[in-house]
Amino acid sequence: MLTEQQRAQLDWGKTDGLLPVVVQHAESGEVLMLGYMNQEALAVTEQTGKVTFWSRTKQRLWTKGESSGHFLNLVSLTPDCDNDTLLALVNPIGPTCHKGTSSCFAGAQPQWLFLYQLEQLLAARKTADPESSYTARLYASGTKRIAQKVGEEGVETALAATVQDKFELKNEASDLVYHLLVLLQDQGLSLGDVIGNLEGRHR
Ligand code: AMP
Ligand code: ZN
Ligand code: ZN
Ligand code: ZN
Repeated sequence: MLTEQQRAQLDWGKTDGLLPVVVQHAESGEVLMLGYMNQEALAVTEQTGKVTFWSRTKQRLWTKGESSGHFLNLVSLTPDCDNDTLLALVNPIGPTCHKGTSSCFAGAQPQWLFLYQLEQLLAARKTADPESSYTARLYASGTKRIAQKVGEEGVETALAATVQDKFELKNEASDLVYHLLVLLQDQGLSLGDVIGNLEGRHR
């Protein structure tokens, strides 16, 4: 995960053989928790792919999720500019905080995160009972109907802008984004696929 050179440059001396590790969701960017690694915890993390800390309270190695099953699957590990802190990008299994929230910093996340969470919710609605939700009914009505809704909301968004109605523009743009997310899900695509594509065009 770390290159040989990165590992050799880590500044273990500064903080008593412990490096703080910022843990972030690899896809959404949600900041999940902060922990500490000693050299052994780092080695175990790299060997197993499961984030393992040195627990200052337990005074032993602690694989996050060892009792709850809420593991943090490692995607990448990167040192900061002066090699005294690590950033771990992870795919979490379940909530990261032992109090049950996705993050230990629940409620303090950037607004953009909501778009990702909304998409996760819409993905889950694919298997929900159509009686129970508008989104589930939309999936059940078929691709053509969803595509038609995107078209309608696109036109309504354009019209609201044309008549300079900011309130309506906000509402119609919200309708458009929601229906676009549903259409992408219906087609097995995600906002991440679109963002990746936009990134690819950028230079
Ligand atoms: P786990 O590692 O998820 O099996 O949880 C085992 C124990 O570690 C919990 O009972 C808590 O005491 C502690 N713990 C778990 N997750 C966190 C966290 N995100 N921050 C601090 N302590 C935690
Ligand atoms: Zn630093
Ligand atoms: Zn917590
Ligand atoms: Zn509308």
